[in-house]
Order: sequence, then structure tokens, then C-alpha cells
Amino acid sequence: MTESSGNADNYNENSYDVVVVGGGAAGLSAALVLGRARRRTLVVDAGEPRNAPSAHLHGYLSRDGMAPADFLAVGREEIARYGVELVRDRALTAIRDADLTPGAPGRAPGGSDLTPDGFTVTLASGRTVRARHLVVATGLRDELPPLPGLAARFGRDVIHCPYCHGWEARDLPTGVLATSPLSAHQALMVTQWSDDVRLFLHEVPESDLADEDRRRLAAAGVEVVPGEVTGLVVTDDRLTGVRLGDGTVHDRAVLYVAPRPVPRDELLTSLGAEMRETPFGRYPVIDERGLTSVPGLWAAGNASGFAEQVVNAASRGYRAGAAINGELLFADLDAKAAEPA
Ligand SMILES: Cc1cc2nc3c(=O)[nH]c(=O)nc-3n(C[C@H](O)[C@H](O)[C@H](O)COP(=O)(O)OP(=O)(O)OC[C@H]3O[C@@H](n4cnc5c(N)ncnc54)[C@H](O)[C@@H]3O)c2cc1C
Repeated sequence: MTESSGNADNYNENSYDVVVVGGGAAGLSAALVLGRARRRTLVVDAGEPRNAPSAHLHGYLSRDGMAPADFLAVGREEIARYGVELVRDRALTAIRDADLTPGAPGRAPGGSDLTPDGFTVTLASGRTVRARHLVVATGLRDELPPLPGLAARFGRDVIHCPYCHGWEARDLPTGVLATSPLSAHQALMVTQWSDDVRLFLHEVPESDLADEDRRRLAAAGVEVVPGEVTGLVVTDDRLTGVRLGDGTVHDRAVLYVAPRPVPRDELLTSLGAEMRETPFGRYPVIDERGLTSVPGLWAAGNASGFAEQVVNAASRGYRAGAAINGELLFADLDAKAAEPA
């Protein structure tokens, strides 16, 4: 028996109490709780955290200003202390044991220890692992407007979130690239950080702005600029301007955009989790602990909701990890209690 698992002898090397897919703040936090609860846990991480383009992480009490890569490196060190395994790999498919038929392709290694609520997860490396519970903490992908040069500056002076970057961009000549009428809200929000804000309507017709937004934009002193944005002006690796289709250049040092969030929900949908559509993408229906509509299947972090910042994602992971430990404990005790005396 190892220090990290109360019942390791019952498992082969590819069987885990919990497999966590995604090693960002949510997944690592779930894994930390599970490791400390002596649960045999595997984290599968493809290594593409959402905030990778940023040099610094903000708004996480006690971690403000830390490099995102350093934050995750510390997290990985912490879970390793408790015997949690982490592999750099990608989970391609997950199947519920309940949906497997004996002898079918993809049948779990070990065969005989299938449980009604377990999962078999196939990784890109070809490895197949089993889990009694599965945590999907795969985050989301930000799809940026297809403007030349925009993606290269994302997370630097092209930013999306004033709570992440607003302080660093305070008082700068600021632009907001409209991608929908909702961008008016982003422009209004940004006025908390700069008095010099221009809303570039780009492909949004001015008539699509709500009357209430127009009034607020005027009250806030936001200049509304019609016309298509065709490019950025970059000088010495710094954003200095926004170019319109008519050739005019607006001096701007920072540009806010609203990327389209694309949750990485393939595992959740393929396992049949109930999903809900929101204006910011499709997310699973979960209870307050993170349990989806599928028994044993959990979601945390940006895979469970658009608004999860790093601290919230970590908190969601923690909650799911603690809840899973309780579920496993009581399931085992109930099974034991049901055994003939
Ligand atoms: C540019 C930028 C800057 C930001 N700055 C801040 C900030 O300053 N403060 C803040 O609080 N928030 C910030 N955020 C938001 C922050 O990135 C998210 O809140 C946070 O990353 C969510 O954590 P997560 O664990 O849910 O997802 P992620 O951090 O995205 O981690 C998900 C992980 O799962 C992996 N993965 C996905 N699919 C699979 C698969 N099938 N198999 C294996 N692994 C998989 C990914 O590769 C990734 O490593 C920023 C976002 C962006 C875009």
C-alpha cells in the first residue's frame, strides 16, 4: 500500500479512483484535494491553458502578478507530493463502463472489474485508463476575430478582460473592437479604467446599438467610431494604433476584444451530459458541487462556465474533488454494508 492511496492493491496500473482531464487551475485543484484524500488520481493534461498568452496572472489573492506558467508549475509540484500522477497527453474519448459490452473494442483493461458508473478513457498516446469518477476540466478556447496581427498580440496589448488586465492598461488610450452590439457593454465597463475609450464599430451597424447603450456611451464620453477596422499599427513591438478601411489611424495603446468562447466539451457531450446554451457558449448542467447529469462525471473551471476566473476555477476544482472523495467513500461503505454477514 502506498502513502497516496488507501487501497492501491485493488488497482492495476491503469486504474484510478479519479481521472482528471485538464491540468489547469481547476483540474490541479481537484487533484490536490483528491491526492490529499489518498485517492489514486491521474491528471491528463495537454498543456494549453487558456491564459498562456499572458505574462502575468492577476486577481488571485496571494498569487497576483505571478506568471501563469509558474502558477501551474507550483500546482504540479504540490499534487506530486501526494502521489497524484500527471501525464502530458490528450484524452480523446471516454466511454461509460455501463455502455461497454464484454469483449467489445475499447473494453477496459482488467476486464472483470467494470463497474456500472466507471469510465474508460483513451489517450492520444494510445494508453487506456479507467476511472471510477471522471473530472472534465478542459477549459475553453478563445476564438479571436480574424483581424491580421490580432492573435499575435492577444494577452499583451490586445486584451479581453478588464479584471485580468485593466489595472495594467489604466489611463491608456483604449480601443474596443466591436464584435456584436454587446461590445457596447465592454466599452462602458472599460471606462472604469480609462477616460479615453473609443468603440470601433467594425462590422456592427450603428443602428444595432440599443438606445440605452448609446445614452450611456455618451454619458461616459466613449467615442463611437464607425467603419471597418482593417489592421493594427505596431511600433517596436507595441500597439500604437488601429487602422480603419479608409486609411485613417487612431492612436491606441490597448485594444479590447471579445473572443468567442469555445468550451472544450467533447468528452461531456459524447458521454451524454445534459448541456445548456448560453450567450457565451454551451456548458454542462451541474449541481453546486460540479456533478453533471451523468453519474460519476464532473465538470470544473471554464469547462463548466464562461465566467470562471483562475481563483473560481480552482475553487470549483476543490469542491468537485472533495465531493468525489465523499461519494467514493460512501459508495464503498454501502457496498460493504450490503455484503452478506
Ligand atoms: C489572455 C488571458 C488572460 C487571462 N488572465 C487572467 C487573469 O489575469 N486572472 C484570472 O483570474 N483569469 C485570467 N484569465 C482566465 C483564465 O485563463 C481562466 O480562468 C483559467 O485558465 C480557467 O482554468 P481552467 O482550469 O478551467 O482551464 P485552463 O487553464 O484552460 O486549463 C485547461 C487545461 O486542459 C487541457 N485540456 C483540454 N482538453 C484536454 C484533453 N482532451 N485532454 C487533456 N487535456 C486537455 C488544456 O490543454 C489545459 O491545459 C485569462 C484568460 C485569457 C485568455
